[in-house]
Amino acid sequence: MKAAVLRPLTLACLPALLFAGYWLGGEVVLMIAAVSFPLVLLCAGLFEGDREHVLSDGLTGLANREHLVETLTGFLENYEGRGQSTVAMVIQLDDFSEAAASMGRVATDEVLCRTAERILAAIRPGDLAARLVEHRFALALGPVRRANLEVALQVSERIQAAIAEPISLRGGAVYVTASVGFCLARRAPRHDGEAMLEAAEIAMDEARRAGHGAIRAYSPEMGLVPEVRQTLSDEIAAAFDAGQIRPWFQPQVSTDTGRVSGFEALARWTHPVRGTLPPGDFLEAVENSGMQERLGEAMVYHSLSALRTWDKSGYRVPRIGLNFSALELRNPRLVDRIRWELDRFDLTADRLTIEISETVAAETGNETVLANVQALAMLGCEIDLDDFGATRASIPNIRRFAIGRVKIDRSLVSHVDLDPERQRMLAAILAMAERLDLRTLAEGVETHGEHNLVAQLGCDDVQGFGIAPPMPFEETMTWMDRLADRIGQVPRIEWPIS
Ligand code: C2E
Ligand code: CA
Ligand code: CA
Repeated sequence: MKAAVLRPLTLACLPALLFAGYWLGGEVVLMIAAVSFPLVLLCAGLFEGDREHVLSDGLTGLANREHLVETLTGFLENYEGRGQSTVAMVIQLDDFSEAAASMGRVATDEVLCRTAERILAAIRPGDLAARLVEHRFALALGPVRRANLEVALQVSERIQAAIAEPISLRGGAVYVTASVGFCLARRAPRHDGEAMLEAAEIAMDEARRAGHGAIRAYSPEMGLVPEVRQTLSDEIAAAFDAGQIRPWFQPQVSTDTGRVSGFEALARWTHPVRGTLPPGDFLEAVENSGMQERLGEAMVYHSLSALRTWDKSGYRVPRIGLNFSALELRNPRLVDRIRWELDRFDLTADRLTIEISETVAAETGNETVLANVQALAMLGCEIDLDDFGATRASIPNIRRFAIGRVKIDRSLVSHVDLDPERQRMLAAILAMAERLDLRTLAEGVETHGEHNLVAQLGCDDVQGFGIAPPMPFEETMTWMDRLADRIGQVPRIEWPIS
């Protein structure tokens, strides 16, 4: 109806129709016709354009805050918890107030409009971009199935790269950078658009404090009053200083020989009051306090010194596996630091395995991550693909990341001896690994039945509570002694000790 009323022919005939009405029915008909036409338009929703105007930012034509909040709320109500999710993102140009003061209003507006265009060009059709105030922009990511940290980081980096391209103005080129804060729907303090956007703004303020071009994800500690947050950061820093955060070690055993083929280093915080904390309880706080590099340092240092002690004491532990998060793998100094630590402990790189999770491998578009993993492989480190089969597996990624072994996720291993469907899946994965010349490890082996079945199917190594839970370094040697007794071997065998 809206289209029919708006047709040019209809509009062109309007005066003639009014005149005909007057000619045939007099003033009364003229008045009815004149009043009813706008009413028809109103009913047809033709004045929605006005509302659109109210919901958009006058300068750039992007949506405004109100529109963005409404959209986010709509996304949350209609998609959250039904397999899809959204992200609120706030983007602010760094140091722009000072730059604007020297550029003048016309040039400033031009830069803001060009920035808006670039943001629009960098997003997908279902996303909504807005300008909140001055040089602060925002996005509502259209609902997607995996709106997780990695996806949000990728979008942030894409937008930062688009904004960082020089903007040519009459007087020359202008260079701007942007800081980004975002909030994943499941992390929002409340289930509404306003709360999500406010959380993304808090994360943005955090990013600005970290320096130009930073990206921060919202976490609940960010909403705490500064003194409380400072206490948490101080507590983590003190824990590192006191050596309270260090690896525990979980053995990996060869299904062929029954001997130790390696240990995985898993972070533990021996908290003076709360006891031994698993990584799930503190990893995020470590990353949010910007201390992920400290964690990596502590894990590498204690793992290599464990290897050294085992070597010296005559225990044969071929290698140790370390976990690195997407954030740690983004660190351009990572490879140098590992090379330096290996030198310091006089250990060859093949003693160190880097575990990267399938999610990181599958979703990263980040050049530094890929370059770091490839450089570590070139250095001679082994690369394990962690949590394989938990989400989607990608064969090209196995090659890109120079993967040597896949660690089959616990979800496929658990009860495999009782579930024929799982057996078929596991057999298919093992056949694929063999064709690709990859070694395999089954994670989360808890029972004899699971252990026997994965061994029968041809898995190379096993790891899990059924073999041993993660343990502090001091317990590893007694455990290895007991294992050697069990498999009837001399515990202390020769190992090339340099
Ligand atoms: P992950 O790499 O998949 O590590 C295996 C997790 O499964 C460990 O939990 C381990 O304790 C647990 N596990 C081992 N065997 C069994 C089993 O038979 N049954 C069950 N139910 N669980 C088993 P943890 O130590 O809590 O670590 C959780 C995750 O934290 C790790 O998952 C890893 O992604 C991450 N993580 C651990 N240490 C570090 C670290 O130093 N740096 C980083 N970035 N991430 C770490
Ligand atoms: Ca792992
Ligand atoms: Ca795993």
